Amino acid sequence: MSSTTMMETLTIKTENKFRTLTTKRAYKKGEIICAMPSEDVREKPNRYTVQIGRDKHTHVGKLAALNHSCDPNVILDTESMEMVAARDIEKGEELFFFYPSTEWQMDAPFICLCGSANCINVVAGARFLPLSTLERHYLNPHIREMMIELLNNTKHNLEKIKS
Ligand SMILES: [Zn+2]
Repeated sequence: MSSTTMMETLTIKTENKFRTLTTKRAYKKGEIICAMPSEDVREKPNRYTVQIGRDKHTHVGKLAALNHSCDPNVILDTESMEMVAARDIEKGEELFFFYPSTEWQMDAPFICLCGSANCINVVAGARFLPLSTLERHYLNPHIREMMIELLNNTKHNLEKIKS
């Protein structure tokens, strides 16, 4: 079973229930590709949501076909609510973003097979990654905030053990 859904500049392909999002045109690094939908915001994540705040997960419609890569070519900017080219992108390329750049703790973790030299292997959300890995990526403000909070709590707990 395979099908194709066309949008103005993006194409969703479905093959054996696996969806991919590809671009019908080239983009320069920093160019805005499209807006992120934000009409349907929930408190809990699911497979079709992107986290945009501490307890805010928006259904992203067709952008839910966007797959993860540890070497992504797009950024989801949850402040401007836009999908932006992370580097120059060629016409016909599949689009990927780094899921932990928006997701703190994912509803459905999986094993990454992206093949990147910096592959994180287990994609479960930012809270499960070392700071050194996260620092290599674009991170949205809510992820930075929760990471700082986690580090501060860890430090506080270590001090309690020592005293
Ligand atoms: Zn990977």
